[in-house]
Amino acid sequence: MEPPAESSLPATFHEWLDRLARPIEFATKDDCAHAGAVKNLSSFVSTQVQSALAQEWIPPAIESRLRSLRELFIDFQQALPIGEQQRRLQAACVILGRLRDTTPESVPPDEEQIGDAASATGSTRGDVWNLPVQFVKGVGPKRMALLQRLGVATIEDALWTIPWRYEDRSVMTPIGNLVPGMVTAICGTIAKCDAKRTRNRRLSVLEVGVEDETGKMQVVFFNQAYLEDVLAVGKVVMMSGRVIAGKQGWMVPRMDVAQYEVVGEAAESALHVGRIVPIYHETKGWTSRQSRVLVKGLLDEYARELRDNLPVTLRARQRLVPIQEAIQDAHFPKAEADARLLEQGKTPAHRRLAFEELFLLQMALATRQRSVQEQPKGLKFNPRAPIVDKLSRLLPFRLTAAQDQVIREIYRDMISSKPMNRLVQGDVGSGKTVVGLHAIVMACGSGYQAALMAPTEILAEQHYRNLKSTLETLGLSVALLRGSDKAAVKKTQAAQLASGEVQVAIGTHALIQKGVTFKNLGLAVVDEQHKFGVMQRKNLIDKGYKPDVLVLTATPIPRTLAMTVYGDLDVSVINMLPPGRRPVRTFLFGDAQRRRAYQILKDELRNKRQAYVVYPLVEESEKTDLQAAIQGAEQLQSGEFADFKVGLLHGRMKSAEKEAVMADFKAGKIHLLVATTVIEVGVDVPNSTIMMIEHAERFGLAQLHQLRGRVGRGAEQSYCLLMAAGLGRNRPTLGRHPLGGEEPQSNARERLDALVQSNDGFVIAEEDLRIRGPGEFFGFRQWGMPEFRVANIVRDGDLLQQARVEAFSLLKQDPQLSAPGHQGLKEAMLRKWEQKLELGSIS
Ligand code: ADP
Ligand code: MG
Repeated sequence: MEPPAESSLPATFHEWLDRLARPIEFATKDDCAHAGAVKNLSSFVSTQVQSALAQEWIPPAIESRLRSLRELFIDFQQALPIGEQQRRLQAACVILGRLRDTTPESVPPDEEQIGDAASATGSTRGDVWNLPVQFVKGVGPKRMALLQRLGVATIEDALWTIPWRYEDRSVMTPIGNLVPGMVTAICGTIAKCDAKRTRNRRLSVLEVGVEDETGKMQVVFFNQAYLEDVLAVGKVVMMSGRVIAGKQGWMVPRMDVAQYEVVGEAAESALHVGRIVPIYHETKGWTSRQSRVLVKGLLDEYARELRDNLPVTLRARQRLVPIQEAIQDAHFPKAEADARLLEQGKTPAHRRLAFEELFLLQMALATRQRSVQEQPKGLKFNPRAPIVDKLSRLLPFRLTAAQDQVIREIYRDMISSKPMNRLVQGDVGSGKTVVGLHAIVMACGSGYQAALMAPTEILAEQHYRNLKSTLETLGLSVALLRGSDKAAVKKTQAAQLASGEVQVAIGTHALIQKGVTFKNLGLAVVDEQHKFGVMQRKNLIDKGYKPDVLVLTATPIPRTLAMTVYGDLDVSVINMLPPGRRPVRTFLFGDAQRRRAYQILKDELRNKRQAYVVYPLVEESEKTDLQAAIQGAEQLQSGEFADFKVGLLHGRMKSAEKEAVMADFKAGKIHLLVATTVIEVGVDVPNSTIMMIEHAERFGLAQLHQLRGRVGRGAEQSYCLLMAAGLGRNRPTLGRHPLGGEEPQSNARERLDALVQSNDGFVIAEEDLRIRGPGEFFGFRQWGMPEFRVANIVRDGDLLQQARVEAFSLLKQDPQLSAPGHQGLKEAMLRKWEQKLELGSIS
């Protein structure tokens, strides 16, 4: 289709608009299926708009809109990514819709009518959510770039970026009423602003006078000379803080200002004072104030048109306020809003927004789960393979009831026609490896290959050592794949895997690198998933394998978290330890008690037990940390522990060296192993009964729990000694956060106490989540944890649960989300999660 050549212009605005709209709306129809069929849209729109702008029948009020429209098409061409084309076309439809509204004879349609009109023409809904902010009044390219830094690209982004806190500025104290000692806020005009320097020129002082109709006050800023321009005479400001007595001889009081804000023109100032005011995150060049103005502008212009993504019945059932109201109140709370609920982010508005966010994620996860399960797998496992039976006779112990149960769940998955996607969660030492082994043997017994992937070489080697003889006894050949292996070795192994000569591949990431192919991979076991992230699983699938997937993790992911990360996996839990295990006894020591700690360590060694001493290794400061571990080992060997053999293990050592050290430790030739966190996961040497952790305050709670899991693996009583510098009672020093930041020591203390008090990984994880919040929860980022704008999984755990139930039941009723009432929902979900979660089957 070619747009009509612009010969003569139609006589009325309306006719002209129809002509302009036709090709655009045609291109947008059916999810922009015809975008490619419409040629020369760019020049058509441009010339149409250009010539129309010269006509007198163009209402002046809409000129800027026409320009916005033209801008959308300036570089519009087939080469643009299809997503961008869609976005622009949809944005154009929104603008066209609004242009139609502006004509005097048409009444602005209400929500329902827009929806009907859109579905009647088969065109897109013209959803304003997706309108790019750059087409909003007052947002040019420069501001656009700033906003992008805050994660704001569309109207949806802007409106969903709600304030992180609120300030009640509804009552301002008249300056004349200020009395020293008060903590309060005022609003006044800058009457004077003098910059001075002290005699030695080190200190700059800014003396500011502020006044309102009732009186004057003084404010002093030190070393903030730049404020001279900000607080220029005549500006209206809001200031809050503590009132103190003024300088001697001054009648006016002074304020120790904690917060201030230039309020600006009177018309706008109603946004910034005299109400509960939203405070937004800022970035260099973009203030909270600007956010306020932007959001207010957006709400004024678009609030009426915001389509509610949640079905009406769902909203009613969950008692959720309409989206317009939620957005409005979350940004600009009504005067009567409950201050406490606001502070906690628990108002009905917050609840509504958080619910929608959680609901969309759960919808996406449910969709992915369906798409995985829909395709029958091409694998056929044989539960009666003779070697499966043989395996149980080879084990040196009896499986616990929990292991037994989980293995049965795995078998059931493997036999079924649906692909297995199962997570096995079990605390450290609960015996997950043997569970994985059963799955491997089942796969190989059915004629497939199996892969076991571990996060570190040390762990992969250990698995290899431990499983090799069992597997070989069963007649299966095993290979160990490491990144550090010589090219020739890798080549041989690759050939053996490709030919099927080797049935079980154990290794690190090396397993999924280029060059490694399998003859018929039937099962992938991923150990310690939290160290991998979801992407690696995907890598296998991208290589053309759709093996059954079994994920083993010791990270005691709290329920709420598991639901968000692993929402599409089935979860099995090994909730008991093998018999005879005793809980590790954990003690917290300050530096002053180091001698005592060493004494305990020595006693164990004399009892023929083995020990670990662990040093933290934070990536950024790796060198010095490594140094500390190396020196620590030397000092222990030449000093306190001269009678014993001290070994050293860290990530920078060559594979062969590491392997040799681990072998010596396992054989009891090394008594005390000084190590960095490389031993954190998986290492299993049952005779080691004591672990000393240096700088325990620098570790995260879940990580400490993992480390501690290296002891207590036999029948003997085991110990964990947490060494924490400066944990004396009344010393509020700063500790280093595991992620490199700083946090108050009290927080570290709380964490360590939690560890002393409990051995239960789940209890500890919940505690960690509570203390540190989801953003900092160990491994959170590595897991590819979804980020929420409003929801907070600690605070909104209940909401998450409800959202999950609602999402799964809705998708059951309408798997393709094809009902007319579900369109907005589907679009919103895809917009948010399509790429991140690779939602294939629905679109
Ligand atoms: P994790 O769950 O931490 O990976 P492992 O699989 O390494 O635990 O097992 C920890 C130790 O417990 C190993 O030495 C293993 O041989 C042993 N183990 C596993 N299951 C049992 C069982 N049912 N009875 C006794 N010991 C067991
Ligand atoms: Mg393990």
